[in-house]
Amino acid sequence: APAAQRRPIRELPDELVSQIAAGEVVERPASVVRELVDNALDAGARQIVVRLLAGGVRLISVEDDGLGIASDELALALRRHATSKIASLAELETVGTMGFRGEALAAIHSISELTLHSRSSQAADGGGWSLDGRSGELRPVARGVGTTVEVRELFFATPARRKFLKTDATELAHCIEAVRRHALARPEVGFAIWHEGKLVEQWRPAASLDARLADTLGADFIERSVAVDSESRAANGSTIRVRGRAGIPDAARARGDQQFCYVNGRFVRDKVLMHAARSAYEDVLHGQRQPIYALYLEIDPARVDVNVHPTKIEVRFRESREVHQAVRHAIEDALAAPRAGQATGAVG
Ligand code: ADP
Ligand code: MG
Repeated sequence: APAAQRRPIRELPDELVSQIAAGEVVERPASVVRELVDNALDAGARQIVVRLLAGGVRLISVEDDGLGIASDELALALRRHATSKIASLAELETVGTMGFRGEALAAIHSISELTLHSRSSQAADGGGWSLDGRSGELRPVARGVGTTVEVRELFFATPARRKFLKTDATELAHCIEAVRRHALARPEVGFAIWHEGKLVEQWRPAASLDARLADTLGADFIERSVAVDSESRAANGSTIRVRGRAGIPDAARARGDQQFCYVNGRFVRDKVLMHAARSAYEDVLHGQRQPIYALYLEIDPARVDVNVHPTKIEVRFRESREVHQAVRHAIEDALAAPRAGQATGAVG
């Protein structure tokens, strides 16, 4: 082996730091879609349009009608650790937005060609501005209030990562799934997805969660599930509410691809929640089949840490046993309750 050689310690240049961070946040085009839709929702968008070329590898564009970004903050939005969402550690404890790390745009910018187009409601800003991420050039554009983020040639700078991408069709499917997860959390927001100039999915603003579930997962999902809605009190006095729908045992399937868990509106893959759900089916579901469910946990934000993983898909509960029980009991109660419209027996 070659002898180790001492090299001087140096601070890495900013762009390289962002490129390294991007490795954690951006696995594939769908990761970019997730981050950009997070941002649109944080900005209060009611309508979000996602446009893709080549499964998102050539282009991901996310357009929203949210609050917009002021022209003098466009460049700042691309800087690392620049965010409008928290300003102190105390705010991190109770953060209610999807984002707060101020890393996504910087990371995506460092591994793609990124352009921001935005118009804030601030009158002094005029009709809108676009910022070319590479050249830093700021140009006036005509547009409505809101933001469009365009990401081209993802991973052009990191060919190793680019090589891991699957076919366009597979990447598109992952992008659609990323939007679906958001759509399930926000029925009141409209979503549209275009691929290669064709509309591939559209979910109009829905009047209820059930309507959105039917739209995104199929009417079957509603017909073969029961409503979940219970509230329990944690030892510290705060409440844990579990809402959503849990599939009847007959609806279980070979794959766990219809299991959606949300914590305070954030999609998560959490072992505690999934285990709790699974154990609620212990007595009614045998073998390897997977129940279907969409569960929404509402919990005091101070009782859950969302800053566990860069993509925030994992969370940590302060009282995970209480959460486990709340979810398990919520589903058990829902499954035990007589179903509306169900025959209650042969009497009479
Ligand atoms: P974070 O979401 O963690 O704050 P991002 O890098 O995703 O970090 O975004 C940086 C900042 O850019 C945000 O805090 C927000 O102020 C602004 N921003 C990004 N996307 C949008 C958008 N679609 N609409 C309005 N503001 C946005
Ligand atoms: Mg963000």
